[in-house]
Amino acid sequence: VRKISEKHDKVFVTGCNNPPADAGERVNGAFVVLARNQELAGVIDSLKSVERHFNRWFHYPYVFLNNEEFNSTFKEAIMNYTSAPVEFGKIPKEHWGFPDWMDANVAKEGIAKQGDQAIMYGGMESYHHMCRFYSGFFYKHELLQKYDWYWRVEPDIKYYCDITYDPFKLMIQNNKTYGFTIAVKELKETVPNIFRYASAFKRKNNLTSQGLWEMFLEPKPEDLKKKEQANEDLPKNDPKHAKDNQKPLPEDIMQTDPGRGSLPEIDPDAMEGEIYNMCHFWSNFEIAKLDWFRDPLYEEFFNMMDRSGGFWMERWGDAPIHSLAAGALLPTSAIHYFRDIGYRHTTIHHCPVNAPARQLPHQPYKGTTYEQRMYDSDRDFAKAFDEEEEYWTKWDTEK
Ligand code: GDP
Ligand code: MN
Repeated sequence: VRKISEKHDKVFVTGCNNPPADAGERVNGAFVVLARNQELAGVIDSLKSVERHFNRWFHYPYVFLNNEEFNSTFKEAIMNYTSAPVEFGKIPKEHWGFPDWMDANVAKEGIAKQGDQAIMYGGMESYHHMCRFYSGFFYKHELLQKYDWYWRVEPDIKYYCDITYDPFKLMIQNNKTYGFTIAVKELKETVPNIFRYASAFKRKNNLTSQGLWEMFLEPKPEDLKKKEQANEDLPKNDPKHAKDNQKPLPEDIMQTDPGRGSLPEIDPDAMEGEIYNMCHFWSNFEIAKLDWFRDPLYEEFFNMMDRSGGFWMERWGDAPIHSLAAGALLPTSAIHYFRDIGYRHTTIHHCPVNAPARQLPHQPYKGTTYEQRMYDSDRDFAKAFDEEEEYWTKWDTEK
């Protein structure tokens, strides 16, 4: 079997290992679950899956967070599904909702308008608060202060395969900061101006790309031309989507002055012709180093994004926020693609390419056009991230 080259992101472990009889010393990490009391059933489903496929051997602690108090029904039920340490925390007011500097009435109007425009979750105020919390606050919660690493869990997730190694440990050994298992394309109307701000942050701080930033860009026409002339493979990254992406959004969604008050002036022409391709790591699965979020430069990034008002006047998700921050701040080598972790949340799933009994990697996901597009972009992004998909396919079929 051909040796995979150093520059590619390798899977940590190939094949099926036996679960460890003794997992040994744990990393200073925890599962983080933000949830509402009424989501108990979905949380239990997730917990069962996490425990069955991983945590019965590793016993990582859980931290449950909520903007309200968890009730005793919730807390007692949770304790029946794990023997690992569990803590329940309430999110302080300063980390959830409108800060002093934001006019709540302006924000609420903006949110109502997104509701009228039928933007997904756009009209739901709590969803905006949730995205902002996961973008700039979760790692500041007092219950997380003692941890260096976190693994995010949501209600209604499912792991397909046993994870018989400690992903935290292997991320540390391999110098990784952020791990994902699915990458999808964002709904453009939820983030019309996000890239202008992220790009301005990058320029303002003289950050030069360390390779990852380019993965969030539409290929430039001149680069496509060069590739064509050199007779190289053209990026197959969903040409229809790329075309849609370059069309401006309707005026009423793409607002130049949405009334955010203290908006810093951003010159859209200063994006150097770069166009966001809407790719992002799907953040409901995330294994990452908390110190990266606690870094002053991440804080500056968050503050700049936050001050724009985009968490309310648009519906910026924490997923594109984390992804664009990674693009601006991290080298590609700090990102780990957990291609070996089988994972599903609602309609989107990732099926490992190197698992012994797996779906063909290119078998399209059956579903609506939108689901299909998301599945395709997952595959294509992953391919761009680790160009040697073929290697794994071969490795698998030759076994
Ligand atoms: P989706 O996955 O984008 O459809 O969004 P979810 O509804 O699953 O929300 C993402 C995460 O935030 C999940 O873990 C939810 O339980 C949690 N969440 C969303 N809104 C709230 C809220 O208002 N309060 C609390 N405590 N958790 C929330
Ligand atoms: Mn969810």
